[in-house]
Amino acid sequence: MADKGLLLVLSGPSGVGKGTVKSAIVEHKVFPFEYSVSMTTRKPREGEVNGKDYYFVTREEFKQAIADNQLLEYNEYVGNLYGTPLGPVKEMLAAGKDVLLEIDVNGARTVRQQMPDGVFIFLTPPDLHTLRDRLEHRGTESEDVIRGRIAQARKEILVMQDYDYAVVNDTVANAVNHIKAIVDAEHVSVKRVIDDYRKMVKED
Ligand code: 5GP
Repeated sequence: MADKGLLLVLSGPSGVGKGTVKSAIVEHKVFPFEYSVSMTTRKPREGEVNGKDYYFVTREEFKQAIADNQLLEYNEYVGNLYGTPLGPVKEMLAAGKDVLLEIDVNGARTVRQQMPDGVFIFLTPPDLHTLRDRLEHRGTESEDVIRGRIAQARKEILVMQDYDYAVVNDTVANAVNHIKAIVDAEHVSVKRVIDDYRKMVKED
């Protein structure tokens, strides 16, 4: 039987650039993994593809998925529901594949409770000025909303104490390289390989 894959959870404060870092990892296939496509009630943005970026569903469909226990976790974020379908994650891990989730900090907390063996990576802004610049550049938020998000980020940054790794998103290339290094190291961590060696020494 194939060994179980790693569950990689990429999270961090709102506006830190989780989506951009995730897209870079997916596009360049930086290491072999499967991306867990989330379900959301948010409307697709231009260029987003159903089944690739998200499963775009109605609120009723989402509520039904919750009632049917189909979600590993879910959260409401600025008026929309987001959740991780459980079935595909379990199947991919059982098939020995590494699975990448890119979710908000509330979702990551739930996953940590459900699957404590996961590798929890917290993406941080280099500093709060950079976060403000990013939110301003996005140009989609009013000054009030930006102030609210910075206040939220101040609280969210210390959430990193519940994670295994903190990766600074100074440039996307640096963040991606650090994440690749983490995944490589996790594959050879003693706690993950010890059982194979126990079996090996027993056979001799
Ligand atoms: P966006 O609407 O910009 O694609 O995503 C908004 C927020 O939802 C981001 O912080 C993203 O990480 C988070 N998100 C995306 N998918 C999921 C999910 O399945 N579960 C949770 N809890 N958050 C998600």
